[in-house]
Amino acid sequence: MPDIAFWNKCNNKCVMCTNMASFSRQDSAQYRLKGQIGKLERYLRGQGPVYLKNADLAGFISLTGGEPTIHPDFFPLLAYFRRRLPRVPITLLSNGRRFADIKFAEKFCAAARPPFSVAIALHGPTAGAHDGVAGVRGSFSQTVAGLRNLFVLGPGLGVEIRLVLHKKSLPYFRRTLEFLLKTFPDTGRYRVTAIHYEIEGMSLENHRSYYKLFGAAELKPVGR
Ligand code: SF4
Repeated sequence: MPDIAFWNKCNNKCVMCTNMASFSRQDSAQYRLKGQIGKLERYLRGQGPVYLKNADLAGFISLTGGEPTIHPDFFPLLAYFRRRLPRVPITLLSNGRRFADIKFAEKFCAAARPPFSVAIALHGPTAGAHDGVAGVRGSFSQTVAGLRNLFVLGPGLGVEIRLVLHKKSLPYFRRTLEFLLKTFPDTGRYRVTAIHYEIEGMSLENHRSYYKLFGAAELKPVGR
C-alpha cells in the first residue's frame, strides 16, 4: 500500500521538512474528502498510477502530509480509510499538536480502530530545542500534551515517537531519551525510532542556505 498525502498544509515549519514550499501552495481540492475517495477507489481498482510513493508495497498504509490532523474533513476521511481498508495497518504521521485538545484526541482514539498507529516527531527535550526545529513557539508543549492524551485515551493505539537526527537535534539526543523516560516511564506503551533526516524538499533548501552562509560543500540529494 502506498504513502498517501492526506493534506498539503501544515501548522509547523520544520527545518528538515521533506516537502517543497510549492506543495503547501497547491490547491487543496485534490486532498479534500471527495478527491481522496476518488484516488483510493481508483487505486483499489488498479487504475493507477495514483500514488507516487511506495505504491508497490503491500500490507500497510501511511497517511502523511502536511499535517493530516488539520485536514478540514479529518474524521470523515479517517473513517473512510478505516472502513475501506479494514484489516490494513494504518500509520498516521503527525506532529501531534492537535491531540493536545482532549476532545479531539478522544474522537481520534475512538476512530483509529486497530490495526492503527500514530508516529509523532519530537525534536528535543525542551521547548527551546523542539520549537527551534519545528519553527513554531508552543509546539513542544502541544506535542508533549498530545502524546500524553493518546497514552491515556488510546490504550489500543500503537505510538511511535520519531527522533529525526540532524545538526539541530543530535546534540540533544541523549537528553531527549532521558526526557521521554522521565515523562513517559511506561516504555511498553511506545517505541522510539531514530532516523536520519531526508535530504529533499525544505530540508535540502535549508541545508543549502546553511552551508552557503558558512561556506561548506554543496550537498546533492541521492539519485539526482
Ligand atoms: S516535517 Fe511534518 S510537521 Fe514538520 S513542517 Fe513538514 S509536514 Fe509539517
